Amino acid sequence: MNNLELQIKNTIRDVPDFPKPGIIFKDITPLLSDVQLSKSITDSLAAFWQNSNLDVIVGIESRGFMWGHSLAQQLEVPFVPIRKKGKLPAESHSFEYDLEYGSAEIEIHKDAIIGGQNVLIHDDLLATGGTAIGAAELVKISGGKVGGFSFIVELSFLSGRDKLEAYSNQMHALSTY
Ligand code: AMP
Repeated sequence: MNNLELQIKNTIRDVPDFPKPGIIFKDITPLLSDVQLSKSITDSLAAFWQNSNLDVIVGIESRGFMWGHSLAQQLEVPFVPIRKKGKLPAESHSFEYDLEYGSAEIEIHKDAIIGGQNVLIHDDLLATGGTAIGAAELVKISGGKVGGFSFIVELSFLSGRDKLEAYSNQMHALSTY
């Protein structure tokens, strides 16, 4: 484990039984409170992705907006938000996917991605992979190419990574449990 991964793990707060019994929620808000660590996270993400010819960073609501936008700024490429249904004001593409209980729907503005653009999908945490796959489908519907997936935290025991390979073999997480 490198020093940054150790710092991330020492700073993230585990909240048991949130949002429901049996889930250990990885609370990343303490990372946001640590200015130097937050900067190091952005720097490390940028160092990893800087030679990947990315045209756009897509961030998934809402915790994917934080370092997703910082990363986009550092790489000097546009940032595009994917939001939950009904939040984006202009014409949008939608994608519905199954959750453990029920379903979720996420959206992207139709004009946010230009056909052929190489798009990185960023979120705070990869669990089962359902959310990241939904984002990848929206990128494809928009005419973009999925250039990779980026996370602060990967819960490897849920094997989300395996499902993402159908979209891109470029997958990076700063810390893995
Ligand atoms: P999944 O679609 O199962 O990969 O879940 C990923 C999404 O749910 C991400 O947007 C995460 O922020 C959130 N999430 C899932 N499990 C956790 C967890 N244990 N701690 C924090 N966030 C989680």
